[in-house]
Amino acid sequence: MESKLIDPFGRVHDYLRISVTDRCNLRCVYCMPEEGMQFEPTERILSYEEITSIVQALAPLGIRKLRLTGGEPLVRKGLDQLVAMLSAIPGIEDIALTTNGIFLAAHAEMLKAAGLTRVNISLDSLKPERFARITRGGKVHRVLEGIKASQKAGFKPIKLNVVLMKGVNDDEVEDFLRMTLEAPIDIRFIEYMPIGDSGTGWKSSYLPLEHVLKTCGTKWNYESCGDVYGNGPADSYRIVGAAGTFGLIHPVSSHFCGSCNRLRLTADGNIKPCLYWSDEYNVRPLVGDDKAVQDLFYKALGSKPETHDMVKALKGQEINGTPTLRHMSQIGG
Ligand code: SAM
Ligand code: SF4
Repeated sequence: MESKLIDPFGRVHDYLRISVTDRCNLRCVYCMPEEGMQFEPTERILSYEEITSIVQALAPLGIRKLRLTGGEPLVRKGLDQLVAMLSAIPGIEDIALTTNGIFLAAHAEMLKAAGLTRVNISLDSLKPERFARITRGGKVHRVLEGIKASQKAGFKPIKLNVVLMKGVNDDEVEDFLRMTLEAPIDIRFIEYMPIGDSGTGWKSSYLPLEHVLKTCGTKWNYESCGDVYGNGPADSYRIVGAAGTFGLIHPVSSHFCGSCNRLRLTADGNIKPCLYWSDEYNVRPLVGDDKAVQDLFYKALGSKPETHDMVKALKGQEINGTPTLRHMSQIGG
């Protein structure tokens, strides 16, 4: 289906990232503070029926791909019911989940049966103590069990999101790359983004992703994979002969705004045309009136900036908008 969601820069939008909750069972250092997070009261969070109604209004405009994120989507009860409701909408071809994986082992099969097509699991360290430090209490063996359960349930490939941090997990690149040798696992190394109050940690821990290619090159031969379906903004590579791939997502150093095809819906019902800007449009009061929902999405698209200007903002240079004050857990990543 041809997309009608085209912004002033000619970018076609067929992808909606839906945050189903701002709550989380973890407190990753780059995402939220250890204490003092104010979560939305339940009544301010979109119900599954409301989310489904919004997607029903958008599918005829060309939205085909959805990603459920958060916060941690699996802290919300009955996520498989939402997946089933969304997968029944004509035009929706792909429903992915981004999860920290802690509760995945118990849910992978149900989610697959409900119509989930892909799963991304965040995993920044394979070392139990380090993982616990980064996530402030997470147990890495639960994530590894979640990965196994997802493989068993038939998700293929499994994508692992690794936020690369200088002096924190940059010595594990080789271990992560090794995971791609035998299994169809795609590792996606992500640059640390200065969003929410991650700013202070960002300054000391940001590391450009060239480090990954350098590390890989000392050990293996690798080749570019070109465009891989579902890899979005990742530059993809494969160690020669490996079953899986690895990708680099550099939103900071070389942004991919020119090919941005995504819109975001926050858990409290705000459309976010850009991850970085503060602009939001509250669609919740309009749910049920498809024409009004569509019109607000058009309005949001009309205000989408050409680029996020993250680097300019970091350098203190003038930019045309205001960076968001929300934490990544409230935006959905
Ligand atoms: N809780 C789920 C999870 O962790 O996968 C989904 C939500 S989380 C906000 C989505 C993604 O954003 C995760 O892969 C996480 O690592 C990433 N993320 C959060 N804060 C980030 C930051 N400051 N820079 C880069 N990636 C970040
Ligand atoms: Fe929770 Fe995901 Fe943020 Fe970690 S990155 S605190 S798991 S929402």
